[in-house]
Amino acid sequence: MGNTVLVKKMNEINEMKRYYQSYLIDKLPPGSVFAAKTPTCSITAYKSGKVLFQGGGCEVEAAKWGELSAANTEKKKRNAGIYLPDQFETLSVIGSDEVGTGDFFGPMTVVAAYVKKEQIPLLKELGVKDSKNLKDDQIISIAKQIKNIVPYSLLTLHNEKYNMLQKSGMSQGKIKALLHNQAIGHVLGKIAPEQPDAILIDQFAKEEIYYQYLKNEKVIQRNNVFFSTKAESVHLAVAAASILARYAFVRHFENLSKEAGFTLTKGAGSKVDEAAAKLIHEKGIDALPAFVKLHFANTEKAMSIYRKKYR
Ligand code: MG
Repeated sequence: MGNTVLVKKMNEINEMKRYYQSYLIDKLPPGSVFAAKTPTCSITAYKSGKVLFQGGGCEVEAAKWGELSAANTEKKKRNAGIYLPDQFETLSVIGSDEVGTGDFFGPMTVVAAYVKKEQIPLLKELGVKDSKNLKDDQIISIAKQIKNIVPYSLLTLHNEKYNMLQKSGMSQGKIKALLHNQAIGHVLGKIAPEQPDAILIDQFAKEEIYYQYLKNEKVIQRNNVFFSTKAESVHLAVAAASILARYAFVRHFENLSKEAGFTLTKGAGSKVDEAAAKLIHEKGIDALPAFVKLHFANTEKAMSIYRKKYR
């Protein structure tokens, strides 16, 4: 019997719980957030963030929720027949990525960007690389240069709208898929009649799930569309998209801080709870939906801090 463990943030665990809604079981092991049993796999998520997948279908199920260890992912890619064309990194590619999905404060930003093969050396020269290895000030300076060089589409989902969609029952995964599809469509429109060699999406859901999210949408293009985790290091187009998305996120974040009257905190840790409690104290609870992603566990924690500390 297979056995796979992932470590997830609480908002992701909540998303999983919604996803497995019809498979939830009532009897919860100690310390667990939810337990579910599908025909091929048992899933138990713990308050510690650990999510345990057990059973014959556990690898497939776990892969829906992202990154296993690198070696495991490589093996799975080969087994699943996911491949990229040879010398993929040298092709003309539209890449897409999103930012802000794990941050309690601030919007979700999605960018698709087109990098032609001739531009690759220039982008390297300008310092375009995996944005996880770049600091905010580097990202801002690189973004300012590349935004005039590469055709791109930026979609910003502000907090009010995000909360509305989320409340209507849309998962974060589906929201991402809609925005990626739209941004890619915009870029294809901008560069037409030119066609990219390929489209590469930084993978947030398995390919089938991505298209399932889009089942009621006009899918812009299916040919030559590839999905890869850590796609920023697979092609510079995704790295460029990621830098532009982070740049937009950082700017919105600064504006939100100005509106709040103090510097907000990125991520979803305990400092974020403190900041949100302060925001509730200063602006009132009704101001919250314009600043945060309400379905994160941080909302409850912030309320509880607010009640203890400020009232
Ligand atoms: Mg990504």
